[in-house]
Amino acid sequence: MPTVRQTAAPKPWTLEDSDKLYNLQGWGLNYFGINASGHVTLQPKREPEGAVDVMDVIEDVVARGIKMPVLIRFQDILRRRVSVLNETFAEATREHGYQGRYFGVYPIKVNQLREVVEEIGDAGRPFQFGLEAGSKGELLAVLAMNSSEALTIVNGYKDEAMMRLAMLGLKLGRKVVVVVEKLSELELLLLAAREAGVRPLIGLRVKLQTQGSGKWRSSSGHFAKFGLTTPEILGAVETLKARGLSDCLKLVHFHVGSQVCDIRTIKDAVKEGARYYAKLRKLGLGVEYLDCGGGLGVDYDGTHTAVESSMNYSLREYVRDIVYSVQEVCRQEQVPEPHLVTESGRSMVAHHALLVVNVFGSIEAGTTPVNLAERPDEHQVVRELRDTLKSLSPRNLAESFHDGQQHLEEAFALFKLGYLGLEDKAKVEHLYWRLCLELGKLLPKAKFVSEDLLEMQKALNDQYLCNFSLFQSLPDSWAIGQLFPIMPLHRLGEEPSRRASLVDITCDSDGKITSFACQRKAGGTLPVHALDGRPYYLGFFLMGAYQATMGDIHNLFGRVNEVHVFKDDDEPKGYYIEETIQGQTVRDVLAGIQYSDYELVKMVKEAAESRVKAGALKPREAAELVDRYESVLAEYTYVDHLPAADENRPSIPAANGSNGAKPVEPALLPAPKSSESVAPGS
Ligand SMILES: *Cc1c(COP(=O)(O)O)cnc(C)c1O
Repeated sequence: MPTVRQTAAPKPWTLEDSDKLYNLQGWGLNYFGINASGHVTLQPKREPEGAVDVMDVIEDVVARGIKMPVLIRFQDILRRRVSVLNETFAEATREHGYQGRYFGVYPIKVNQLREVVEEIGDAGRPFQFGLEAGSKGELLAVLAMNSSEALTIVNGYKDEAMMRLAMLGLKLGRKVVVVVEKLSELELLLLAAREAGVRPLIGLRVKLQTQGSGKWRSSSGHFAKFGLTTPEILGAVETLKARGLSDCLKLVHFHVGSQVCDIRTIKDAVKEGARYYAKLRKLGLGVEYLDCGGGLGVDYDGTHTAVESSMNYSLREYVRDIVYSVQEVCRQEQVPEPHLVTESGRSMVAHHALLVVNVFGSIEAGTTPVNLAERPDEHQVVRELRDTLKSLSPRNLAESFHDGQQHLEEAFALFKLGYLGLEDKAKVEHLYWRLCLELGKLLPKAKFVSEDLLEMQKALNDQYLCNFSLFQSLPDSWAIGQLFPIMPLHRLGEEPSRRASLVDITCDSDGKITSFACQRKAGGTLPVHALDGRPYYLGFFLMGAYQATMGDIHNLFGRVNEVHVFKDDDEPKGYYIEETIQGQTVRDVLAGIQYSDYELVKMVKEAAESRVKAGALKPREAAELVDRYESVLAEYTYVDHLPAADENRPSIPAANGSNGAKPVEPALLPAPKSSESVAPGS
């Protein structure tokens, strides 16, 4: 027997209802809250105390004449992320009695804005939190900004200029570890080190068997673009030993990809990476650091699950699993526990940035500005559609929908042939919408809803016109379907009575958001409040990672050089080049994100001067270093010269001269005079 429910008066909508509806607790990590006015707040301390009302900020912004959309960066949340990561590692190593320390680095590609990097540097100073660079432009920025106590890690493809720049950094007293990602880079590195007269700090990136998960899966595993295979690692070891540089191998690095959603991937990767470390130690190399790369996730949909837009672990669990796993492997292998490094980017910067967008209109389905009342002389097809609408009941939903569709198609055919007037056509369109709207109301009561009815339901929803460009501001949403939490920033004490998809202001038909992180079940719509003529603001959250600069200067690679090639059979090679366009210099792209070349050079000059004072550099050498730093600023951003095996340069000596390669003099790199040497790890 079906139970008869008392129909109590509906409970009034509360702030808690909004909190739950938008799953704020799920994805917000308590950095966001809702205050008594029904406004979203920013909570740097992860509690209501000291919270900032986002609507106050918006009011201020508007009063200053700053136009929407506006990206709000909350530097305190940024600082907090940095200290949480460092403190959690400190706590975990202490509790496990772990021998090594944590020396994290922030990969600036994730958000290169100077203010962001500066803030991270500042918040990380007590922990010697360092920076990671993946390109020439990034390295220029990082060498100037990073402190000498923290690590500077260099990843990515490196050409000669980048290697020289890294050596320049060593001479400036920065702890620059160059991670060899391709075997051919080792040669370039050793040449640059010899030229500079320094002993390099070398890292090796190992290609793990462990596959990452999520969208970035392909950046790991055996077919990864970066990393050395086991034979290549052994080759590198032979080279280093042959040249008396075994003590220069300081770091073992791996990276399983970004946004790792399953903790098992992390554990597997760390165990595998730790074995490489241990085995290399046992081969007599002086490895001191194990660098576990990036990958620490962000729970964009707040479900705490192992799906692409989420993660099934916490930061605390991540840290503890790393410490514990490395300790276990070291215990088994009886080697000292290494210092731990991670390169967390996304998890550091995602939360601090909030994009505020104003809704300036809506497109609503099924409204009519003219009177379309029934008239005796209307066309047969109109009358049939009216009947379909009248006889609609919960028992004939699908049948009515299909009848309606058929009448609509008939009407279109009749109109095309000239048998249907404009007014009757208007009635058909309107009645069809009415039918759909009524159907939409009955659907929740239906036992079974077919796919085409669900599609129809999506079309019924409002579209809210939002003042932003999806491509410009949310490239990941546009390009790879990344989900971001989106919710109204105010009116949260009111029940959101409408459901809408969001469309942007570009004429791009892709400029539409129909999947929402925290509203999975809402059928491609966001619960929103009815527009009432006053400004209505939506917040796009967790926007700090990979969004701001990705559009055109990912990794500080600016606009590329262009050549316009035209087919021309009269030309000897079948084409001619009509035009070439210069790409951007490193200085240009840096200026674009607020780094003045003047300031950067000044900082490097100061670093050089202090080295002169300390007696580590001669004044002439210091001047040369600064000159060289300046000259790279004028270079093209992209890699000038990729090392290739077939080039006319000394090759890495093969193990025992086998492989048919001619062994190269082991003394390629003379031991530097002690006064000039930069001791590894110093
Ligand atoms: C991109 C990248 C990172 C940052 O990864 P997150 O997932 O954002 O933490 C770290 N290390 C390397 C080598 C990278 O390429």
